[in-house]
Amino acid sequence: MQIGNVLRELGLALFLIVVFFGGLVGGILVAVTVNPWLGYLIEYATAAIILGILAARKNRNYWAWALIGGLVLVPGLIVLMFFGYLCPKCHGDLSTRQWQDRTCPVCGVIG
Ligand SMILES: [Zn+2]
Repeated sequence: MQIGNVLRELGLALFLIVVFFGGLVGGILVAVTVNPWLGYLIEYATAAIILGILAARKNRNYWAWALIGGLVLVPGLIVLMFFGYLCPKCHGDLSTRQWQDRTCPVCGVIG
């Protein structure tokens, strides 16, 4: 793994952690002080952003996963963990090895 990739992964992880705790605390504060439904909406959006970003990383549909993430964040994360990467061109399944080698059995070399 190249150092650039490591830094990018670390940056993403840090960003997601900040979004998670920021959304959690912010949502609870809003729910208590302003409106419970607005607070719930913030929690929903926070979970949706997190799962959407992680799904998009695997070339999966951002909005479909964001919708799921808002409803069931933790089960969604677990399911996504077991889902592999998709080819960005033909959307076929790739093994982790093929993804690391940036090759698709159908398209050949991918970006
Ligand atoms: Zn392909």
